[in-house]
Amino acid sequence: MASSLIADRVAETFSGQPRDYRNHIDGRFIENGTEMIDVLNPATGALVGRIPESSAADVDAAVVAARRAQGDWEQRPAIERANHLRAISAKLREHRLELADIIVREQGKVRGLAQVEVDFTADYIDYMAEWARRIEGEVLTSDRPGETMLLLRKPLGVVAGILPWNFPFFLIARKMAPALVTGNTIVIKPSEETPLNAYAFAELLAETDLPKGVFNLVGGRGAVAGEALISHPGIDLITFTGSVATGSHIMQVAGRNLTKVNLELGGKAPAIVLKDADLDLAAEAIHASRVINTGQVCNCAERVYVEREVHDALVAKLKVLFEGTLYGDPSSEEGLHMGPLVNKAGLDKVARAVDLAREQGATVIMGGKVADRPSGFHYEPTLITGATAEMDIMQREIFGPVLPIQEVGGLDEAIALANDSEYGLTSSVYTRDLNAAMKAARELKFGETYINRENFEAMQGFHAGRRKSGIGGADGKHGLYEFTTTHVVYIKG
Ligand code: NAD
Repeated sequence: MASSLIADRVAETFSGQPRDYRNHIDGRFIENGTEMIDVLNPATGALVGRIPESSAADVDAAVVAARRAQGDWEQRPAIERANHLRAISAKLREHRLELADIIVREQGKVRGLAQVEVDFTADYIDYMAEWARRIEGEVLTSDRPGETMLLLRKPLGVVAGILPWNFPFFLIARKMAPALVTGNTIVIKPSEETPLNAYAFAELLAETDLPKGVFNLVGGRGAVAGEALISHPGIDLITFTGSVATGSHIMQVAGRNLTKVNLELGGKAPAIVLKDADLDLAAEAIHASRVINTGQVCNCAERVYVEREVHDALVAKLKVLFEGTLYGDPSSEEGLHMGPLVNKAGLDKVARAVDLAREQGATVIMGGKVADRPSGFHYEPTLITGATAEMDIMQREIFGPVLPIQEVGGLDEAIALANDSEYGLTSSVYTRDLNAAMKAARELKFGETYINRENFEAMQGFHAGRRKSGIGGADGKHGLYEFTTTHVVYIKG
């Protein structure tokens, strides 16, 4: 497409007016079919834009284009691929405010956090570009005389990246940047709830000289476009972030073609507060973690285990903070802690979880109902005490601004309860005792543990869940190498 046409499209995207977006396949924006999906602002119900309901044929065209482009892309020096990534991150920075605005309007995220997401995304792409000169193989001694063994690190081929709606923009980079720098090409399917930021991403990417077919974007629902992508024999890796149910389904479907999977799934992060903890710090961190993105974060504190001696003091501090939580419509109000839940299903799920906690004997000490607002999927910030291990509220992912608290007798009990979960993504511990912190680090069975703080994870770390929280991981060197395969070459002579 001519660059002036792309510039017009970008200008239209950032005008804030709803319009139809097009898939980006093989370097072109494809004419839409008849079926379109409305994308609505969850705070107001207003139409933000429409995306195509892509067919299996659209998905096939994207995979074929990605495969065609992959051979040449792999043969280019890694530093050249990295320079393409840097051109993309520069484009994102040029339009950082407008991109954040799209996320605010389609996802209901507060503006400050949407801005952090956009800026972090650009930094993440640069971070992955820096790996270009650091991708390493190995040279081994052979058992045979006169032979040398080379372990070459190679791309897998074509990657399918399937995204959730809670950090939709960052997740594009988490899939795309390591895939591209290691020589893979990619087909991205964003969530049908929040796809417009990905379409804006594709439009900005089209303004760079990235070779056609290296990055492809197809929108649509999981049941149509998603199914077509995960069952396509031309995919070499499915990297998915989303719910346990979908992740489990993807793994089953991928089994038919023996496609490699990388799954980043749900969480039920325990926060353990010991009696020697700095309670102000613990309360502030746990509150911030529970209301950020309206509690819709895979690694935010979902259940608290607090030592009996400081239970009442912690609850009192949390109550003050939860009472001061400002919420509303982030597309028209500033200074909010949180916006609405992403959709009606999300709101109903949170409301049901709290009702069930009440029925099972927990005490709702504040909140506990749908917020009284003229529009939007708002739930009141909610604190629950008297929770016990068998209750669903301590076992199932809530994904809303609701915090259940359980009293414990000590660190051993807290660790045992924390580990007794089908989730194993992240965990946190509040203590001033180094021995207690080290014991927790040794005994907690989670992908990540934060000591005296809550989420988020660092780009140079490794974000990976145990048990039903996932398979494989993302970020840092170990995340990068998930996009590669090892090819052994024996050289005799
Ligand atoms: P979801 O599983 O409903 O949807 C995620 C994506 O999968 C969407 O793009 C959807 O269209 C697609 N999909 C649905 N059915 C499909 C199918 N049959 N085939 C292929 N694709 C299909 O998840 P969500 O509601 O968007 O995201 C919220 C979940 O994501 C939460 O459980 C949260 O904990 C998890 N999450 C995890 C991490 C992590 O890093 N571990 C990060 C963010 C979110």
